[in-house]
Amino acid sequence: MRKFIIAGNWKMNKTPTEAVELTNTLLPEIVEAVNVERVLCPPFVSLAAVAPLLPEGIGLGAQNMHWEKSGAFTGEISAPMLAGLVQYVILGHSERRQYFGETDESVNKKVKSALAHALTPIICVGENLAENEAGQTGAVVTRQVRAAYSGLSADEALKTVIAYEPVWAIGTGKAATPEQANAVHAQYIRALLAELYSVEVANQLRIQYGGSVTAANAEALMKQPDIDGALVGGASLKPAEFAAIVRAASTS
Ligand code: PEP
Repeated sequence: MRKFIIAGNWKMNKTPTEAVELTNTLLPEIVEAVNVERVLCPPFVSLAAVAPLLPEGIGLGAQNMHWEKSGAFTGEISAPMLAGLVQYVILGHSERRQYFGETDESVNKKVKSALAHALTPIICVGENLAENEAGQTGAVVTRQVRAAYSGLSADEALKTVIAYEPVWAIGTGKAATPEQANAVHAQYIRALLAELYSVEVANQLRIQYGGSVTAANAEALMKQPDIDGALVGGASLKPAEFAAIVRAASTS
């Protein structure tokens, strides 16, 4: 049986006090869900406030990190700083790629650093609207996945999670259809991982879908054979909505 993974990306929202409030409201609604890994990803400054509130089974993630361990990188946070505080880190989010110069190469360096410090990277890939309309989805996603996993052994790859997030679906209210998302997961991501590693590795790796996931579309998405969870942005700030998404995974 697949174990789903639902992660909430709070993006640049919530002060530490607000993050504690949101966590306390959310926890009773998601604490009992079975067969689903649950991860909350508040902003850096709220991680230490949220960490002690989380029971066994609910993980904490950062939204980004630098690949170097320490040094003259003003404003950055490294894997050793996160290790011990969080278990996951979102890497290569399209907002980082689009606004902050994240490249395929920097994502690969970050993935390696996260793994070296026992953090589970949630690696985001996905095409933008122009690429989608030009029929380049496969080429873009293949390039991003190849680059992110460059130099990783099968054992290392197994410690990662992938999030397919078509950029045109993020924060737009226009989710990919379950069939569209499943096709990209199966044809471009899972098949590529099978080629890079093996069918066994590819089948074990979890591929989340992200992009306007809501309580209303979560169940249909989770029922797809190659969708193993969701990376949730806007809806993760609404406790009832996020809880419904967790339940949809739990019962799929
Ligand atoms: C995200 O932030 O990764 C995301 C998918 O956002 P939203 O769910 O709001 O589209």
